Amino acid sequence: MHRYYSQEKKFSTESLRSSKVGIFGSGPISNFLCAYLAGLGIGSAVLVSNDRKTPKNSNEFLARMRGHRKPKVKSIADMMGFINPDMKVIPFPSIPNRIFTEGCDVIVDTTNDPDHKYLTDKYSKETGSLLLSCSSSPTGFSVFANDYSEKEYNLSPSMDIFKDVDQGSFTSAIAAAICADEIRKKACPVDEDIKLEKRIDYELLTSQRYYPKYRNLRRGNLECCVDEDKRVLVVGAGGIGTYALLNLAMLGCAIDVYDGDIVEMKNLNRQLLYYSAIGDNKAIEAAEKLQMIGKDVEVMPYPENITEKVVERLLKKEYAAVFSCVDNWKSRKLINQYCVETSTPMFDGGVTSFDGDLRTYIPGESDCLDCRTGYDDLIDDEIENFSCRNLSANVVMPNAIVGALMAAESMRFIGHVSDGVNDRTNKVINIPAPEGNTFLYRSNDNYKRFMQVETKKICRTEKTYENRCFCRGKNEVCYAA
Ligand SMILES: [Zn+2]
Repeated sequence: MHRYYSQEKKFSTESLRSSKVGIFGSGPISNFLCAYLAGLGIGSAVLVSNDRKTPKNSNEFLARMRGHRKPKVKSIADMMGFINPDMKVIPFPSIPNRIFTEGCDVIVDTTNDPDHKYLTDKYSKETGSLLLSCSSSPTGFSVFANDYSEKEYNLSPSMDIFKDVDQGSFTSAIAAAICADEIRKKACPVDEDIKLEKRIDYELLTSQRYYPKYRNLRRGNLECCVDEDKRVLVVGAGGIGTYALLNLAMLGCAIDVYDGDIVEMKNLNRQLLYYSAIGDNKAIEAAEKLQMIGKDVEVMPYPENITEKVVERLLKKEYAAVFSCVDNWKSRKLINQYCVETSTPMFDGGVTSFDGDLRTYIPGESDCLDCRTGYDDLIDDEIENFSCRNLSANVVMPNAIVGALMAAESMRFIGHVSDGVNDRTNKVINIPAPEGNTFLYRSNDNYKRFMQVETKKICRTEKTYENRCFCRGKNEVCYAA
């Protein structure tokens, strides 16, 4: 049994292994996509880019982790080989050419360059392959799918949307995960698959976040800046934690991370930082790997799980945001308790093989997660029947999306977006509060593929919760159903 066989049971690992993907570009989106595809177990890839610059930006994390080996495509290919030793990756330090697309089932253009996109679109059409064209800014992204083996659409109107704009961190992370998900559907279809129809757009600087009107995507030289004095807490360094940590570290956030678990073989398909660390503690290993991205990354590992005792200790500390990346309700309850007592924003994630949820508790804006979820019932149920820990393997994409969404939604509390980075009119842009407090990713639902909802509030006034929950009295929220 090979370690990358640990995938969703419905996926044919043989189909994944026999597929070949052409990846054009070596910027942030490309770095994320390459890492995801290695974890997913894609058999082979060609990686094409003539960008020979040393990766300055921490968003190009794979290239940075490899050190200063040039060109970038070679560094990235080396790292893919570490993550998945079975994958065959051929790097071409070159401009796009029709030759590189031979035999590829999917072609992905990961650049923001419209001329580049024009060429990859042309080659995809000629070879009748699925084209995924994605681009990003620090606060937005656009992913366009065009399957030339089925139907021919016109060129994407968003081809030039982010021309000459630097790609962002969490936006590139999400765009790449959407691409990886569509690549999986092409490489090994399952019955419930619904492919991405045409386009999906995201913009943090709109309250609706997803499906903003194309014209609402922000251009210009934006930058996500994290305040220097802010520190965050990440609890759990597993599937979701890996990506919360990666995205927060890239933003330049100072992090305390708690996890008492050790790395197991079955983790490696999605917890991509741990390729060389079986048997080691996750928090310590994550801190070590993230340090490889840049000297300024500040991650303090605590090799222990969350308990009442740990919460007591944490109460003496102050965090700008808390990220709950755990796999059980007891831990969620403890984290929620800490966040309510200290009025700290909480970001809680959960995934299956196809779907991901992010639920937020913002003091003063929403009820706490215990009020919304009722943790005690779930804890009882978990002890008796079911635990996330017992789930069969899950896969990289939903974890990557939820982890990156956590970083995105926390930006309001840990920093700000600044405009005019390259000129002298540097000004702060307000990040609007989202419309809801639960964010969904549904891989097989074109309507709900990305969605935010206002969680229905359940009236608990008759129940014991009223007297027990700490967030009552802090929020004047009516619980009428
Ligand atoms: Zn509450």
